[in-house]
Parts: sequence; C-alpha cells; structure tokens
Amino acid sequence: MIALSLAEIAAVVGGQTHDIPDPSVQVTGPVVRDSREVVPGSLFAAFVGERVDGHDYAPQVVAAGAVAVLASRPVGVPAIVVEDVQTALGALARHVVRRLGATLVALTGSAGKTSTKDLIAQVLRRKAPTVFTPGSLNNEIGLPLTALSATEETRFLVLEMGARGIGHIRYLTGLTPPRIGLVLNVGTAHIGEFGGREQIAQAKGELVEALPAESEGGAAILNADDPLVKAMAARTKAKVVLFGESAEADVRAENVRLTDSGQPAFRLHTPSGASDVTMRLYGEHHVSNALAAAAVAHELGMSAEEIATALSEAGSLSRWRMEVTERPDGVTIVNDAYNANPESMRAALRALAAMGKGRRTWAVLGKMAELGDEALAEHDAVGRLAVRLNVSKLVAVGGIEASWLQLGAYNEGSWGEESVHVSDAQAAIDLLRSELRPGDVVLVKASRSVGLESVAQALTETG
Ligand code: ATP
Ligand code: MG
Repeated sequence: MIALSLAEIAAVVGGQTHDIPDPSVQVTGPVVRDSREVVPGSLFAAFVGERVDGHDYAPQVVAAGAVAVLASRPVGVPAIVVEDVQTALGALARHVVRRLGATLVALTGSAGKTSTKDLIAQVLRRKAPTVFTPGSLNNEIGLPLTALSATEETRFLVLEMGARGIGHIRYLTGLTPPRIGLVLNVGTAHIGEFGGREQIAQAKGELVEALPAESEGGAAILNADDPLVKAMAARTKAKVVLFGESAEADVRAENVRLTDSGQPAFRLHTPSGASDVTMRLYGEHHVSNALAAAAVAHELGMSAEEIATALSEAGSLSRWRMEVTERPDGVTIVNDAYNANPESMRAALRALAAMGKGRRTWAVLGKMAELGDEALAEHDAVGRLAVRLNVSKLVAVGGIEASWLQLGAYNEGSWGEESVHVSDAQAAIDLLRSELRPGDVVLVKASRSVGLESVAQALTETG
C-alpha cells in the first residue's frame, strides 16, 4: 500500500482513533483481514465472522507488527474505530486508488473471470508493474484489499468483479472506478439468485455504465460473440472494443484449432497487426479469454507480437482450473474441480474430448449449483453432451443432480455401463482406482460446494 498516517486513514474512513499515542505513525501495508498475514507495517481489518471475531486477534496482530486495527469497537490496542469495517475498507480503497498513478482494469462475466484476469496480468506485467486480484477475491472485501495492495510503482491494477445481484458491480466500481471495463459473457451462473439471463446482463452491464467517456480514455471491452454482452455497447459512453471470433470483432481469432494435446492455437488479429498464439492452457474456452486479454492489452498500447508471445507463455495462476497432471503410468488427470456451470462444463468436456483422441476418457462430474428451475434441463444436457463427444465413461457423483447427469447420458445414447452414479467422492475414488488403465484421461469437475478436488488429488497421488 502507499504509506498513509493513521490520522489520514482515520479522516478518510471517518473513524475515531483509540489507544493511538502517535497518529502520525504510518501504515506501510499491507492491509489484511487474516491475522496470519500480518507483517510489520500492516493495518489489520477486524471482521466479525460466523465463527471467529477478528477483534479477538487485536493484541496478537499488534505484537506481530500491525500498526493498528481497523475495528468496530475499541480493542485495547491502537485502533481506528468505525461503524462498519467493510464500508471503511471501501472508503480507504477509493481514496488510495485516486492517488495511484495506475490504470484500473476491471472485468466481470459469468465464467472465466479468474482465468482471464490471470491472462491479462501475465500480458500486462511484461509492459509495467501490475497488481491483480489474487485467486477469486472479487467481492466487496477482496476487491478493496487487492486495490490497497497496489504501490506507487503499480502501473496496472487488474480487478476481478463478481456479481450476485443487481447493484453489486455498481458498488464495486464505486470503490475502484475502472478506466477499462471488460465483460466476458452472460451465462447462467447464479441464475437461481438473479432470476434470469436478462437480469444477469443487467447486473454485469453496470460495469460499462461506470466507465468514463471515450474522450476521457474510457474503454468498454465487449464480447462480440455474446449478444447480451454486445448489446451493452448501448449502455456506455466509453469507446467500445469488440473481441471474439465473429468477423466484426476488433480483436479476433482466425484459424482456431485445438492441438493434439488439447491446447488452443489461433492467429490473433488486432487493429495494429496479427500474430500466432499457441496456448499452454487447456480448453477452447480460453480462446475467448485470450482475445479478451489481448483486447485489453492492445488498448493499453501493446503490439500483437508482444501480446501473442505473452499469451503463448501464460500458465494458470489459480488452482484447480484445468490443472493437468501426467501420472508416471500414463494416466492424465485434469483437475477442473474449482467450480462448474453449464458453460464451463461444456468447455471442459470438449477439452477432454480433444485431449483424449484415441484414448479412453472419463468425465467425473458432480452437480452444478444455483441453477434454479433450469437445474434438471442443464444437468440432462451435460450428460447428453458427454455421449455426443464420445466420452468413454461418465461417473456422476452425488445426489439428485448426478442422477440427472446420468439420465441425460442414458437418454442420448442408450448407455448402459458407460455411465455410473456414485454417492460421494470416496466412492468415485474407489471406483477409479480400480478401473483406471495407462493412457486414460480423467476430467474432474463440479461446483465448488461438491469439493471434487479430493478426487483429483487422490487420483493424482495414486500414480
Ligand atoms: P468464479 O465466479 O467462481 O470466480 P470465474 O468467472 O472466475 O469463476 P474461472 O475461475 O476462470 O471463472 O473459471 C471457472 C470455470 O469456468 C472453470 O471450470 C473454467 O474452466 C471455465 N471457463 C473459463 N473460461 C471460460 C469461458 N470463457 N467460457 C466458459 N467457461 C469458462
Ligand atoms: Mg473467479
């Protein structure tokens, strides 16, 4: 963080200083909410959680070098006491990003935010110091914490923004107003909470509404291949840059293909030139993510060659997203257990099919959460797709949703033993341990709550 005195922080957040002998002492950062991350110079934000109360850690974090605690009550050690710690954190982030010399890039979408954010960061940091959201910390607490981790040297600040309802993105853009805003896609993630795709588009589009006008440098980077995203052009005064595979896109891919190892390759076209990309990441859905990243980088002055090289060398920075492990016995495990929704399930299955040419393929799948009324149809469709892609074996893990997956597969292809339904992760592990043969490729994927990474990990270790 840029260095700020406790007096200045208190003024910015409208807080009272307690037990602070010298308010001119500076916080040099980082701002943390986890007591284990405190280092000398930190500001510790005390949140009251369901199980733990951050305030209880106050003496401990100060002993570890924290300059003060941002708290909602006096804690007997140096503290800035506010009514609401989350609001205060947001106000502090807003204050700090105004003083930074960095360009703010924000992105949202139903699927691929973290993957794309990681790609953008890996491209931009070749040009200048870049700070970006770690993992998926994209909410009203993670976002300000990320913004506060930027320093005077930071030139690009790349922020993932998540939305679970109308007004969420507006709130986040209020804290850290982006100059460049990217919307990836409008899928069905969290559709149960939103009510429908139109509502999701309404919520995601708040990002482009928050951008400055084109004359002030604002740029909206929109997916030309997603009609609900493309339509957001009407909701912004910023310059509109389209990416995608369609011919009208400003930044587009030609000759898109999957290499034999399942990695996408394509020719990247930007308004200022073209260059070839062969990705290290798996799955054709990364073409769209790469084009989005390329559009951002092009907008920030990078050449097609620079961007193509960076995209070709970029790896995954986040765990459990199409993480490929080759076992010594020739079994390939694809751990995509981080999360799942219908779009990402389809993308992952297609990647499995590409990687598994001439090999036996297993799709170990669990439920996709939060689909509301569409849950049955979506699980059924995924089961059917597995058959159409010639996946050799489907292992559906869990409760009722898993039986819908199996039913879809059964109805599509009159499958018998090709699909099995097991009750839990352990049953899947037991089954696969006895059935896997050298050369098999195994995809493991479900929504976060299913925790299928245990299956991927167990199978990875078996080798
Ligand atoms: P979250 O909302 O959980 O933060 P996210 O939007 O950050 O998710 P990622 O973590 O990048 O998304 O990816 C989630 C899943 O979606 C992964 O399984 C990944 O393989 C898949 N995925 C990534 N990009 C796309 C895309 N463009 N279209 C469809 N699926 C995608
Ligand atoms: Mg994410």
